[in-house]
Amino acid sequence: MAAQATWPKNIVARYLTDAGKALADPTITVDLSENSDESGVLGICRGCESTLDDSRYYGRDLGAGRDWAQGHAETCRALPRPTA
Ligand SMILES: [Zn+2]
Repeated sequence: MAAQATWPKNIVARYLTDAGKALADPTITVDLSENSDESGVLGICRGCESTLDDSRYYGRDLGAGRDWAQGHAETCRALPRPTA
C-alpha cells in the first residue's frame, strides 16, 4: 500500500471510495476542500470526477459536504483514468 502523502493545505476531509478500498489505493478518494474566499466547501471525487455541485445536496457548508462525500465514497466504484 502506498504511503499516505501530506494533504494539500485546503483539504479538510478525505473519504476513501469503494474502488480505493477494493484496490487498497489510498489515492482514490472524495476530497472536501475549503477555500479562504467566499466560495465555501468544494467537493470532488478523484475516481469519477463528480462534484458536490453536481449532487442533490444543496449548499456548500461542511455538513452538506461531509454527507455527500461519505455517501458518494461508499458507493463509487469508478477508477481514475490512468495518466501514465
Ligand atoms: Zn466518484
